Amino acid sequence: MENQYDIIVIGSGPGGYTGAIRAAQLGYKVAIVEKYNSLGGTCTNVGCIPAKALLDSTEHFHKAKEDFQIHGIELNNGLSLNFEQFIKRKEGVVKSNTSGLSYLMKKNKIDVHTGLGSFVDKNRIKVTNEGKETVLTGKYFIIATGSKPSSIPGVTIDKTRIITSTEALTLPAQPKSMVIIGGGVIGVEMASVFARIGTEVTIIEYTDTLIPTMDRELGKALLKTLSKLGINSLLSSKVKSATNAGDHATIKFEDAQGKEQEIDAEYCLVAVGRRAYTDGLDLQAVGIDTEKNGKVKVNERLQTNVDHIFAIGDVIAGPMLAHKAEDEGVFVAEIINGQKPHINYKLIPSVVYTWPEVASVGATEEELQAKGIEFKSGSFPYSASGRARAAMDTDGFVKVLVSPKYGEVLGVHIIGPRAADVIAQSVVGMEYEVTAEDMYRISYAHPTYSEALKDAYLIAAGQGAINI
Ligand code: FAD
Ligand code: NAD
Repeated sequence: MENQYDIIVIGSGPGGYTGAIRAAQLGYKVAIVEKYNSLGGTCTNVGCIPAKALLDSTEHFHKAKEDFQIHGIELNNGLSLNFEQFIKRKEGVVKSNTSGLSYLMKKNKIDVHTGLGSFVDKNRIKVTNEGKETVLTGKYFIIATGSKPSSIPGVTIDKTRIITSTEALTLPAQPKSMVIIGGGVIGVEMASVFARIGTEVTIIEYTDTLIPTMDRELGKALLKTLSKLGINSLLSSKVKSATNAGDHATIKFEDAQGKEQEIDAEYCLVAVGRRAYTDGLDLQAVGIDTEKNGKVKVNERLQTNVDHIFAIGDVIAGPMLAHKAEDEGVFVAEIINGQKPHINYKLIPSVVYTWPEVASVGATEEELQAKGIEFKSGSFPYSASGRARAAMDTDGFVKVLVSPKYGEVLGVHIIGPRAADVIAQSVVGMEYEVTAEDMYRISYAHPTYSEALKDAYLIAAGQGAINI
């Protein structure tokens, strides 16, 4: 019957669309409810995809400026950035992804209802779009409403001078200067985008390292690379306020010595984390429990306290990553189907798309030390890699952490060219509990960036490096 579904998914981000597709593949009648006209959520519209598009464009620009001459490539007509085209290309990339998703919805016979979804009761949801209401009935619901940027006391995001990553991805012209509050993932990715095209960028970070949740050595190495790009990173510094002063923003902060400082910039980008987004869902109407930080509470089956209502992705606990949300979308569809899927939360890789890229999986050195777990460490620098030398991409290293007793791989931390892809091999190895010896005895194509892994494993096993 019309508007009666087996499964209703609320939110069309990576969690929602994968959950909906998997459910449809399993034979369910599925609807997806999305507030915006464009499918794909944060990741496709204002996150992963557009950010990577701008990162790739600016990396080309930077290479053309800094490296082409050394390669013997001469730009006789000079080099300049057409900012309008730079933003337009990114929009084209987003459009091709969102159109791809609309096609997938049709192909899988998933009904898309555009509008804000709010629970009416345990089996009904109201979809409101421009004053028009449609009520849908479902046997199961999957909440996949994602997250929104958060801020800190003294800093009000006004989307004009004091902005988030969303506005930073669509600025009308190249900014002369930008202060970024927060040296986490968004902070360092956006800093790279703008510094590469000549914007004067300052990062103000509260802790004493960039990307503080990752292995400390990665943060240290990233600080060096970003400073080569001209990015000024002020660590151990606490932002007190940011104000819109008309044609610029003024940021007040306490520096590492405890002194009050003030800095002006054309834009202040706030990147201090994101919060679970449940506004307008009317969770109270169904009595769904949330954590103190607003995340929807779920059990190990990703079920809320209302049995037939599940929640996935950024709106629940765990890393706010697109692939984590995707895995959970598939997981819930299969749970509803009575299957026994599994997600290994310890082995979800994290990637930062600076250049070189940063990628991590498993435990950091600091976590192992804190837990008193014995480990051996093997590091191999990209400056010793033939592939990296050929590409002039010699910054960074691969570090593997291995248990001395059984050779179990405990953690892999990479900063280097294509680290995002190189990490995949270690994820497979760790999931299937291979040893460090297995990892260095398998064949690695030469010359590749992933060979650096082989050497790191050899070093951790007490042997010397063998490849270049
Ligand atoms: P979302 O993608 O946030 O989607 C939620 C959807 O629900 C939205 O479309 C929203 O409009 C809709 N919605 C909300 N409430 C309602 C309602 N009541 N009714 C109807 N619809 C509703 N992660 C990575 O893994 N790799 C990256 O490279 C990466 N880069 C990023 C770059 C940036 C700048 C940002 C901001 C994030 C990035 N992320 C990245 C994080 C990633 O975007 C998120 O982890 C991911 O999008 C979470 O997916 P989700 O499905 O849980 O929610
Ligand atoms: P984050 O948690 O990665 O970083 C926030 C940073 O802000 C931290 O380093 C924190 O110490 C700092 N901070 C907090 N309060 C501060 C203050 N008062 N002054 C100065 N610094 C302060 O959050 P984010 O960078 O906003 O990213 C949000 C989420 O989006 C992350 O969870 C991330 O997983 C996801 N994301 C992922 C990718 C990727 O996978 N490549 C890219 C972008 C975003």
